[in-house]
Amino acid sequence: MKLDFASVNQRHSVEDLLARRGIQLRPSGQTKICPCPIHNQQTGQSFTVYPAENRWYCFSAKCRRGGDVTDLLVALDGITKAEAARILGAEQLPGEAPKRQRPAPPPPPPRVDLARLLAEHTFDGYDVELWEESSIRPDEDPEHDWRLMLGALFAPGDVLWMGEPEESGKPWNLANFRSRAQWLECPSRPAGRVAAGVFHPDSFSRCRASVARSPFVVIEGDTYDRDPERNKAACAALFAWLRSIGLRQRAVIDTGGKSLHGWFDRPADDLLSALRTRADALRIDAGLLDRCAWSPLRLPGCTHSRTGKPARLLFLAK
Ligand SMILES: [Zn+2]
Repeated sequence: MKLDFASVNQRHSVEDLLARRGIQLRPSGQTKICPCPIHNQQTGQSFTVYPAENRWYCFSAKCRRGGDVTDLLVALDGITKAEAARILGAEQLPGEAPKRQRPAPPPPPPRVDLARLLAEHTFDGYDVELWEESSIRPDEDPEHDWRLMLGALFAPGDVLWMGEPEESGKPWNLANFRSRAQWLECPSRPAGRVAAGVFHPDSFSRCRASVARSPFVVIEGDTYDRDPERNKAACAALFAWLRSIGLRQRAVIDTGGKSLHGWFDRPADDLLSALRTRADALRIDAGLLDRCAWSPLRLPGCTHSRTGKPARLLFLAK
């Protein structure tokens, strides 16, 4: 028997399948959301249904998967796609209401419209999920996390700038440029911030010309939502998408303000230029992709002047 996936997906709706399992959805803009039934989510509502397309997606790092009705049955019951299609293709299951006819033709294959996903996305518990995903567990006390972060991201001989933003450009600012090994000898957290680049030895100015190597891109969006927590959740959703297109996430910092900083391994040139081109659509700072190497970035533990909250390390990977 040849299985007609298109017709199965046309005749069944994602919403009905969830409703039959007693799963309640909450409207959220053009979408509907709920705690994810696939990974049995305890906090958060990262499972999103797109009724217009009759599709679904789970944004959690635990899933990061989506699809049509057949894919949902596969994910829920751990069966094969062929089995799911046969179940859905059966005329009627015992005790089941007659199937709703869907007049619309099957939608085109998924193409994630990121701006729309971000606008509609709520992602409670993003910090817990990042922490659970983290291969190096951040400390309870953010005061110590700068050591973990420098240790994981840089080599002992890498020359790093740390300090207050204005501590640059004068000969005495040589003291703000030290090797990672020297910084880690400090008994307590150095004041201020850090730049994401590796500098030439004997630099005293935090500028492009002093940068020897730029191993990371730092990605931030602060215009997704006025509410700081919702804006951070949108940043987390963006980072999940960046990971899905091949970027390697190394650190995520809650700045203590309204956004997250995602530190990613500097991607290949073609991917980087695609990011630059799409920066406006993604609502990220295109300049920061390069400027992060010599910009003063928030270090875990440093207090945000406007909110009084410390920056926190949420995720770190060697
Ligand atoms: Zn899930």
